[in-house]
Amino acid sequence: MNNSLNKNNSPNEIYNARLIERKWQKYWNERNLYKTDEQNKNKEKYYALSMFPYPSGNLHMGHVRNYVITDLIARYHSLKGKTVLHPMGWDSFGLPAENAAIERGISPKKWTRDNISQMKSQLEKLGLSVDWDKEVSTCDENYYKWTQFIFLELFKSGLVYQKESEVNWDPVDKTVLANEQVDSEGRSWRSGAIVEKKLLKQWFLKITKYADELKNDLKKLDGWPESVKIMQDNWIGKSIGTKLRFKINNISDFNLDVFTTRADTIFGVTYIAISHNHKLVNEFKDEDLLHKLKSLKKEVNNNNFNNLSKLGFDTGFKAINPINNEYIPIWVANYVLDGYGTGAVMGVPAHDQRDYEFAKNNHIKIKLVISKDNNSKSKVISKAFEEKGYLINSETLNGTWSTDAIEKITEMGIKNKWAEKKVQFRLRDWLVSRQRYWGCPIPIVICERCGTIPLSIEDLPVTLPEVNIETNKINSLKDSNDWLNVSCPKCGSFAKRETDTMDTFMCSSWYFLRYPSSACNDLPFDKDNTDRWLPVDQYVGGVEHAILHLLYARFLTKALRDKDFFNIDEPFRNLLTQGMVQAPAFKNIKTGKYISPSQINDLKNPIDPIDGSKLKILFEKMSKSKYNGIAPETVINKYGADTARMFILFKAPPEKDLEWGDSDVEGQFRFLTRVWKLYSENISDFDKSSYKYNEEKENLIKRDLNVAIQEISKDIENNQFNTAISELMKLNNSLMQNIKYLDQNLKLEFLKTFCILLAPFAPHISEELWHLLGNEESVHKSNWPSVDESAIIEEKYLLVVQINGKVRDKILIPTDTSEEKIKETSLKRENVQKWISNSEIRKIIVVKGKIINIVI
Ligand SMILES: [Zn+2]
Repeated sequence: MNNSLNKNNSPNEIYNARLIERKWQKYWNERNLYKTDEQNKNKEKYYALSMFPYPSGNLHMGHVRNYVITDLIARYHSLKGKTVLHPMGWDSFGLPAENAAIERGISPKKWTRDNISQMKSQLEKLGLSVDWDKEVSTCDENYYKWTQFIFLELFKSGLVYQKESEVNWDPVDKTVLANEQVDSEGRSWRSGAIVEKKLLKQWFLKITKYADELKNDLKKLDGWPESVKIMQDNWIGKSIGTKLRFKINNISDFNLDVFTTRADTIFGVTYIAISHNHKLVNEFKDEDLLHKLKSLKKEVNNNNFNNLSKLGFDTGFKAINPINNEYIPIWVANYVLDGYGTGAVMGVPAHDQRDYEFAKNNHIKIKLVISKDNNSKSKVISKAFEEKGYLINSETLNGTWSTDAIEKITEMGIKNKWAEKKVQFRLRDWLVSRQRYWGCPIPIVICERCGTIPLSIEDLPVTLPEVNIETNKINSLKDSNDWLNVSCPKCGSFAKRETDTMDTFMCSSWYFLRYPSSACNDLPFDKDNTDRWLPVDQYVGGVEHAILHLLYARFLTKALRDKDFFNIDEPFRNLLTQGMVQAPAFKNIKTGKYISPSQINDLKNPIDPIDGSKLKILFEKMSKSKYNGIAPETVINKYGADTARMFILFKAPPEKDLEWGDSDVEGQFRFLTRVWKLYSENISDFDKSSYKYNEEKENLIKRDLNVAIQEISKDIENNQFNTAISELMKLNNSLMQNIKYLDQNLKLEFLKTFCILLAPFAPHISEELWHLLGNEESVHKSNWPSVDESAIIEEKYLLVVQINGKVRDKILIPTDTSEEKIKETSLKRENVQKWISNSEIRKIIVVKGKIINIVI
């Protein structure tokens, strides 16, 4: 490294971000600066990962925030001397590409590839330290071949099965939707259409086999936000309870099972509710009953989900309560889900609010069996009492506390074969079938003689057929005859390919395993690479993926671990869920419409130009429909990527929502301009040795620098990037005021250190300044400074100065000042000089930490 300054390096007076940024992006590219070092295996590794984007064609501020945070973390750990893997890829299958392609008359493949190259060039402008050699795209054959491979491996493990089941059918997009893709009003998350119910044979992954482990291992995830762990825990929803078996009047050997966590309320069961697909409906013979069932099904399909709890009808069948042989009416009710548990629930209106409402609506008996105060006097209740209490109206169990009663009743039931202990999960198996074209084909052949036959690895990939754009017939693989018809791999006779494609969540549930082995052609992931790089040290992404994506990725990791592909239990050690980027939107409360700011005269007192009403200013997530989106490129072109990065990191802690503010963006630009000024003044001044040395100032600036190193390191490690930037600002101010008191070598050293501290945040300007200081290597290949603890120590005491036993002065002095230094400092003092004047000093006695006595 060159330590002397090059005269030709004299910097411009003005900070020209665009010029600098283009120059260094080119330099980094040409030198492949961010290539992952895979040779040096003794170095500590660090895997920094952003949730990969869907290639919509447009980079938005949410992306920018996500990738800038990951980039900062990756750069910091690289400067700390670790080998860093920081990859990027594309979650590139899915419906939006297919819909957009149909609209434009191009193939989804072309649309997707064009978008990827567009977004890649946008990403480059941010100056990310991404190793693009590791890039993956889930719609590439050499990626989805391995998604198919994983599907087949799961098949071999018995984790894949097919089941006819009622599914949510989106009549507009003509596809099956997962439950979580249907909103609370029963509409599709994409098309907004009211979702219909339909029976279809579907492929499922048995995620429920791992329910217990997925739940228990949440405890291991110390580096995850508590809120995300709670969401996952609730989603898995483990409950410990009792399965009760009811006999049915007039139908021998028909058992109706229900699951309950409150067996203590068994005397309060006044009806049983079953789903409209329960096996009991096959026993319906009565015309009237069949008619009721049919119209109820229709209601479910056409109605919004909010009214469902009110729908139901009495079947006339009676269940027999095993505890007292009482007859209980059986109802069909729409709040009972097929897929959940047994498809039947016991109705205890007095002690369950939903049951209470259903009973009230349908005039069903309400019987109190739990009391807070052990009082069995009957009373009218206005809502269900859901707490635990003492049993009443429960024959021999009266007066027993709920918890004890659950135990006793369950034991009684086990003995008499009408009960068993049961653990039930809310988690359902993962429905992976999608009836669309633009997805990963399921590697299965269906033969009329042999049934469903999984393909072998030699047959992979099952590639997607080309589509005929002219006819717009790309709704389903069923339309591609040449592709569809094959001979059976087992018997050779006529067979057809499975035409379902996989849920894109399947493609994204293992991509982090592919990056370290992206060049690997004979396996999805090489064992050595996986052992070296996994788990991911820091995963960064939006909180909207807190449940499904993370749960599926955890499941797949565990399932593949059990096939000995690697030996990790959890894929992501630390998780950071960044908040949204919001901007002011102008809403007319009366009409509910958003008004574009371009139509508003006075943004401080906004008025709707159409009806003249006052508009409300709301901070909302940036979106086209609300006219409040800000394109990252606008900011980058005006101020530079470094300013955009600094703003995003400074404005709010990463997990909080961030409110866009133009003046705050300008504030960051001004800060970088001040940094530029600090360097330009000092570098052009460098050869003049006319500095005024001042020891106190030197100590001060040393202290400030070391405090900054300490605080910034701590802040980055705690994901507090905003306070780290405040430290950079403080240090910049201190340097501006005091650097003139330093000698040349120190000046150079301090300016270099500041560059390194700034580098993870603003990688371009720091690189430029670093080179202006005479360095030839990149600042991003230097070393993060370590803290000089001694420079930080600040403890001082008040030294009493006596002359011939009389107090003549007091000095504030650092605790660790040496005896020599104490003597020297004291004798230099004006007060002391005055008393000594020309007298001879006979003796000096120093009591460290207290006094100095000068005898004259
Ligand atoms: Zn066959």
